[in-house]
Amino acid sequence: MKPGTVLCHALWTIGPDPDRNPPTVHTACKECDEKSPVGTDRAASDLWALRHSGRTGHRRYHECVSVDLITRPTHEEPTR
Ligand SMILES: [Zn+2]
Repeated sequence: MKPGTVLCHALWTIGPDPDRNPPTVHTACKECDEKSPVGTDRAASDLWALRHSGRTGHRRYHECVSVDLITRPTHEEPTR
């Protein structure tokens, strides 16, 4: 830090980005490296896991959901 630097304490928040794309989801098998295609339809991801179980006997999965987020200072109005 050099002389003359101004520090400002501010509270920030994080939440869904109003300009976000729809959340995406995929299911990954925890017993092998296979995973469902990434998409916006959770039912399709679940169906992939059920079919994978029927085909392989694998029963443990990890659901991966991706949501766009945005941070902003609490004193700043949301853009929408
Ligand atoms: Zn598997």
